[in-house]
Amino acid sequence: MSLAAVPEAVHVRAPGKINVYLGVGGRHDDGYHSLATVFQAVSLYEDVIAYPDDGFSLSVSGIDDPSTVPVDDRNLAMRAAKMLAAATGYTAGVHLELRKSVPVAGGMGGGSADAAAALVACDALWNTGLSPQRLHELAARLGADVPFALHGGTAVGTGRGDQLNPALARGRFDWVLVTSEAGLSTPAIYARLDEHRAQNGALADDPPLSLDVPIPVLQALRAGDPHSLAACMYNDLEVPALLERPSLDEVIKAGLEAGALSGIVSGSGPTIAFLCESPESARYVQGELQASGRVALHVHGPVAGARIISA
Ligand code: ATP
Repeated sequence: MSLAAVPEAVHVRAPGKINVYLGVGGRHDDGYHSLATVFQAVSLYEDVIAYPDDGFSLSVSGIDDPSTVPVDDRNLAMRAAKMLAAATGYTAGVHLELRKSVPVAGGMGGGSADAAAALVACDALWNTGLSPQRLHELAARLGADVPFALHGGTAVGTGRGDQLNPALARGRFDWVLVTSEAGLSTPAIYARLDEHRAQNGALADDPPLSLDVPIPVLQALRAGDPHSLAACMYNDLEVPALLERPSLDEVIKAGLEAGALSGIVSGSGPTIAFLCESPESARYVQGELQASGRVALHVHGPVAGARIISA
């Protein structure tokens, strides 16, 4: 590779996600749960810019409290860059600039989007030319939600959520997201779920259930029909998220009163995702929620996965 081939910087954008459906099965010995989920990538993006450097460093902007996002090896984007370097034998480094828009610990896979973006950005910056399949393998090693952030669109995730199959989705779905200042810890919400199930007679370490995404969810997506989709959106993590943060119940009620078709905890929360009938209806719901002092964002899906904006 000649020096002239090295770009000055590579800018990659990757989307946050909503779990339109999330069924959680039994817990495996390694602590992971089996999942059957439908992801939809939405138009709330993480921007990652990779600059050539001798070592590895990372900076973060777009967040109110810098202490919530680590800038060392605990950061998923940093781990992604180092994993790619190790996998390809690349010997120099990178400076990663993270411009965050997806709420931290919000249940929308922001860290996973950063990791997917970092993989794509470093692969382009370093000219390592990984195949989509190799990128997918590295993504799956980084975290269950990372492969989806690479692919985007609408997809069914099984296994730990990392075995992906594209789902047909027609048209666009309009969502209003209500974010919370304080995040929720994903492991804590899964632990709450296990506890709740144990108290209600199910054993947390039962053999993994055979899980399937219900056909009506896939039919509603294929038809592009928000009314049908609203009727079958579901999240097994909603009960533990509401137990952990009871005030989210008020948020859901407020969105429904404002005219949303349905409201659901996104992933492990605390972001609430409201599905709306149309862009106009979403703007109205957003306005009503903002008027009551909440942070409400109007986004749409599905959108593309991690992609290069400039190089
Ligand atoms: P999940 O993918 O488990 O649903 P989430 O979307 O709820 O996660 P993230 O914002 O991805 O939450 O991050 C959860 C935690 O991971 C944060 O509290 C932070 O400590 C750590 N973290 C590591 N890397 C990142 C990153 N690039 N951006 C944000 N948080 C990160």
